[in-house]
Amino acid sequence: MTKYIGAHVSASGGVGNAILNAEAIGANAFALFTRNQRSWVSKPLPQLEIDGFKALLADRGFQPEMVLPHDSYLINLGSPDEETLQKSRAAFFDEMFRAQQLGLTMLNFHPGSHLNRISEEECLDQIAREINLALSKTEGITAVIENTAGQGTNLGWRFEHIARIIEGVDDKSRVGVCIDTCHTLAAGYDLTTEMGYQFTMDEFERIVGFKYLRAIHLNDSKKGTGSHVDRHEVLGEGAMGKEFFSRLMHDPRFDDMPIILETPDPMRWADEIKWLRSL
Ligand SMILES: [Zn+2]
Ligand SMILES: [Zn+2]
Repeated sequence: MTKYIGAHVSASGGVGNAILNAEAIGANAFALFTRNQRSWVSKPLPQLEIDGFKALLADRGFQPEMVLPHDSYLINLGSPDEETLQKSRAAFFDEMFRAQQLGLTMLNFHPGSHLNRISEEECLDQIAREINLALSKTEGITAVIENTAGQGTNLGWRFEHIARIIEGVDDKSRVGVCIDTCHTLAAGYDLTTEMGYQFTMDEFERIVGFKYLRAIHLNDSKKGTGSHVDRHEVLGEGAMGKEFFSRLMHDPRFDDMPIILETPDPMRWADEIKWLRSL
């Protein structure tokens, strides 16, 4: 059993560059955007770029299962607005399809926001329907729901939200969860003490289930437990406490899945990864 650790690296200049950027920081996993994350439309991936990505990934010894593409921040599968929902549906399918084209196995996304215009339940059920739609049009890609800090009207901060979405997904083998540690803390789950850690993990097992866990976003948090503020911090320099990272690195429930840093200073990723491995 191994810990696969990396960061959300830049893919600027082409998706293949993400592989080189990951290699440069000593990673054996990584996350990337496969299209402009702040735009609704993107040009299709050229076949040459796809072939180059697959070849380089194998050449540098990365497993496709340890690569976690992240979708665009614009997408809101829970949107109460018909036009935004249609744009989100098209963009989400495109993100899933790109992951499939690149020979990957997952797409990581934020569930969505109700914007105070529909109920939480309606919003969560709509997200599940949209996942079903995207799964029906793609092959081999698991939709990986990221828990959120619960800023504004974002859902997915309570484990119950995630459980309800999963409940609405027809093919349970192709839905999973990514725990973002900063978001978890900000959402109100205390991870700063041994007791808090155990309680949070027990809650996750009870409400969602570790069998759905596919990835970790490993971030420290600038703000404390329950702040609902999504501000990532360098590992060991935020509210989480260094002990937390040691606990997680020794926890076999996080073996064999991408553990991705989204910490604020890319210049420190190599050292952060080294530090984690030293624990
Ligand atoms: Zn995210
Ligand atoms: Zn994250």
